[in-house]
Amino acid sequence: MAHLNLILLGPPGSGKGTQGERLQEDLELPYYATGDILRAAVREGTAIGLEAKEYMDRGDLVPDEVIIGVIAERIASPEAAHGFILDGFPRTLPQAEALEEKLDEISLQIGAVILIDVPDEEIVRRLGGRRVCTEADHVYHVDFNPPEKEGICDIDGSELVTRDDDAPETIRNRLVQYHEKTAPLVDFYEKQALLDRVDGARAPDEVAESIRALVATLSLEEDN
Ligand code: AMP
Repeated sequence: MAHLNLILLGPPGSGKGTQGERLQEDLELPYYATGDILRAAVREGTAIGLEAKEYMDRGDLVPDEVIIGVIAERIASPEAAHGFILDGFPRTLPQAEALEEKLDEISLQIGAVILIDVPDEEIVRRLGGRRVCTEADHVYHVDFNPPEKEGICDIDGSELVTRDDDAPETIRNRLVQYHEKTAPLVDFYEKQALLDRVDGARAPDEVAESIRALVATLSLEEDN
């Protein structure tokens, strides 16, 4: 199969992580979630982690130049030779432009940008009950997607915790940031006829089914 380069776009808590994990299994492509990458950097205490932490704790976006380097390196790596899935990047217009430039440089193109659409009030409800595992950021929800054993990740057995930035005030700031800085990307990608919308306010299985159907069409187009 040719390159299948996908971007998952949507507000915090729209299910990008949950859907990204499934897509990664289905498509066997590397999955780059900038939030996960940054949280790992914070845990490891790297220079990027130290710089990013204060922004993340406030629910602000980290500076573009910090995150652009992180992604540019990965999409040009050999493991991304058959495509990649991006989650949480780009999140600003300068990031989208930097991505375009980087892809041009290595003669690649974006296959599709999948917007997982969820209204704000649903986001607030979801993020309050979200739990993530300490090992690999696998995502659960106390009511809608509980683990088999309370407080323990089904996949790797690590402890489940509330993310620091899922506190109510921080959630509100993350939504403000999304509407101000990330939502303009909808228009940006719509103009390039790259945007596909999926109703993310449904159950995870239903959303996954819509995304699967969409990706199947893209793969067919690529093969022709
Ligand atoms: P997420 O797990 O995608 O919700 O990301 C968690 C936090 O990481 C965000 O609130 C930002 O502080 C930071 N972050 C993740 N991706 C980006 C990005 N592309 N640009 C700037 N900040 C980001």
